[in-house]
Amino acid sequence: MERWNRMPELPEVETIVRALARSVRDLTVETVSILRGDILRGGSLSGSSLAGARVAGVERVGKNVVLLFEPPASLVINLGMTGRLLFHAPGERAARVPVPHRHAAIRFSNGGALCYHDARRFGSLLITKRLDIAVLLGIGKDPFQMSARELRGILAKRNAPVKAVLLDQKAVSGLGNIYADETLYRARVHPATRARKAAEHAGVILSSARAVLRRAIRRGGTTLRDYRTPDGSKGSFQHELAVYGRTGQPCTGCGAAIQKTIIAGRGTHFCPSCQRPA
Ligand SMILES: [Zn+2]
Repeated sequence: MERWNRMPELPEVETIVRALARSVRDLTVETVSILRGDILRGGSLSGSSLAGARVAGVERVGKNVVLLFEPPASLVINLGMTGRLLFHAPGERAARVPVPHRHAAIRFSNGGALCYHDARRFGSLLITKRLDIAVLLGIGKDPFQMSARELRGILAKRNAPVKAVLLDQKAVSGLGNIYADETLYRARVHPATRARKAAEHAGVILSSARAVLRRAIRRGGTTLRDYRTPDGSKGSFQHELAVYGRTGQPCTGCGAAIQKTIIAGRGTHFCPSCQRPA
């Protein structure tokens, strides 16, 4: 298994969102401390604008965690490569968490706290009165939201490799390097296939993406290095990866050695026998 820092994708963010919803829904914000001003994205309101607001819900928008508040406001959290959200229940000693990389903390009136940690600060926070976050961020629908017909339309217009289009958050949100590779393997589509030629396989690509993502969500996501759920536990989908990080190892379907190439600047894993170039 190759191990490197990676950005959480749809299953990891969905896992975080579900856990956070159980912890913070209906809590009232007491204070928001932004300890590194540069963690706030341009156009963000200040943390103090959330004081007194109630957490009405937690949602995933693409690969972003979004806390929705009442009165209406949104906190959009992009975890970057190494960002972590940790929830401290009321009375729990937050001191055992390493402080140097804690960049923001929301304290709730019941004594609980939600802290954002990021060792490398590729992540960001955005506080906004807007609720249409997908529109605000300019990102496309995720594989659970779009139809095969919509995906066909997106692919048909593009000449780039299909893998590149699947990674483009403006086209399809939620997929990153791991799940794009796993999706195309399951769909038996070579990642270098031109998107406009892969468009005829949009149905199987979409159903494959959903199957891979659903299974990964059930496993709590894929932990290669940094990703943790808000209670500090790891996902386990890394044990079920078919191609990602398996360069040189036998394909579980046909026994051929999994190959690695670079597409859209990203290491791309595929089976040269199961996924034939179009
Ligand atoms: Zn194979």
